[in-house]
Amino acid sequence: MSMDFPQFRKLEGAQNLYVIEGPKHVTEWQPMGKSNWVMHQHFASDYPRYQWVTELLQGEDPVRILTADAWEQLRSERSVTSADPAPGRTPWPPTPSSWREEAPVGPLTTFGAAAHAQCLAEMASDADVRWALQDRVELPLMVLGGGSNLLMHQDWAGRMLHMNIRGVQKIADDGDAVEVVVGAGESWHGWVMHALDAGWNGLENLALIPGSVGASPMQNIGAYGVEVKDRFAWLEAIHRDTGALERFDSKRCAFGYRDSVFKQAEKDKWVIVRVAFSLERTAPLNTQYGAIQSELQSRGGDHDTTHRQVAEAVITIRQSKLPDPSEIGNAGSFFKNPVVSRDAFERIQRNHPEVAHYPAPEGRVKLAAGWLIDRAGWKGHRRGTCGVHDGQALVLVNYGGATGAEIWALALDIMEDVEGKYGVRLEPEVNQIGL
Ligand SMILES: Cc1cc2nc3c(=O)[nH]c(=O)nc-3n(C[C@H](O)[C@H](O)[C@H](O)COP(=O)(O)OP(=O)(O)OC[C@H]3O[C@@H](n4cnc5c(N)ncnc54)[C@H](O)[C@@H]3O)c2cc1C
Repeated sequence: MSMDFPQFRKLEGAQNLYVIEGPKHVTEWQPMGKSNWVMHQHFASDYPRYQWVTELLQGEDPVRILTADAWEQLRSERSVTSADPAPGRTPWPPTPSSWREEAPVGPLTTFGAAAHAQCLAEMASDADVRWALQDRVELPLMVLGGGSNLLMHQDWAGRMLHMNIRGVQKIADDGDAVEVVVGAGESWHGWVMHALDAGWNGLENLALIPGSVGASPMQNIGAYGVEVKDRFAWLEAIHRDTGALERFDSKRCAFGYRDSVFKQAEKDKWVIVRVAFSLERTAPLNTQYGAIQSELQSRGGDHDTTHRQVAEAVITIRQSKLPDPSEIGNAGSFFKNPVVSRDAFERIQRNHPEVAHYPAPEGRVKLAAGWLIDRAGWKGHRRGTCGVHDGQALVLVNYGGATGAEIWALALDIMEDVEGKYGVRLEPEVNQIGL
């Protein structure tokens, strides 16, 4: 594995040590007292800091370039006593990562279909990810976040990297707007609530979406008129083949409806290790969705509504509509809402004037997959231990003991039936593993 990063530096005339993790990311080890270090993470999100990282990289006076061994020798002269809670910092002393053989992964997924990984390891830092990428390279590799958007069809005959990189770090604040970096292994909902507690607003409509922060850009998660792309600043990801840490801005992520470059041209090439968000204390409220308005009104009107109240309304609506994965196995919407040409839509509408639809970009039309499945007669249909949820036709459920193959067989039958009835081929939103 070749990689330009990490690179190691020391400040001449002082004891400060640096690890340059990527072109915009530096870990600093600052001496404290006689025998301790304090670690800081620096993310270059403005020009002066980018310039500083560039100068460190060039290694010109007063900075000395070190080999990894020489750096470690200097580092080992002190111990670490404190560190900022930055996402992705290497825990110290480093706990050597290790594989768990034949690990059961059904419980790590919200569908709960039984499956094993040949070997599974917890990823608590960038260093863990690099270790796992270079170990047992003959085995295929997959990344697991919260397991809420995948269906295991069979055992995974390979390495599975369970993302557990933690930490939340505010790196910019102009009094209103903040930029915050969050570790890929943080729970999405936990992060949304943490942000609201801190007064960093803009993500409230995305409360209670299961899963991890690192997976959120994968399919540009969205709900109630907001998508992750609306509050996304950048992410850092490690290339699976080279180990290089690179930064992706919004343009490079090529976000679309439940889509990004990580599901298209860059599929299976990167491990996302942290995501940065742009939030505002005075973010505008997004309450245009009818369900949110009614919920707010039922709570006593929408005057002086706070961001937290919107989050609470969203949580109540979601709890009333969607099955709780801790009670019934599911992965949320199993299918994407199909987007069709206006001609195709008009053909469907001639036979089904009541078809639920919404405008989509470029004059196209988005159909409600749940409506198509419901009208095709599948809502509440049960087949053995799996079925279609009786409250939400878009959600396939595992009542307990269903295999991935059984759930997929049901999905295929629904897809064929809907295509036969409406001429529209549904596509799964959920990632199919080992199909
Ligand atoms: C009840 C329920 C409701 C839901 N509601 C919504 C909703 O309203 N809107 C919505 O958009 N989604 C929704 N989802 C889907 C799901 O919550 C999201 O897609 C979520 O982002 C998945 O996160 P995860 O960590 O569980 O990903 P996983 O299921 O673990 O992984 C999903 C995919 O991303 C890859 N991946 C995960 N983490 C990383 C990483 N760090 N680097 C590289 N690749 C990675 C995996 O390999 C896999 O291909 C819902 C799911 C459930 C169960």
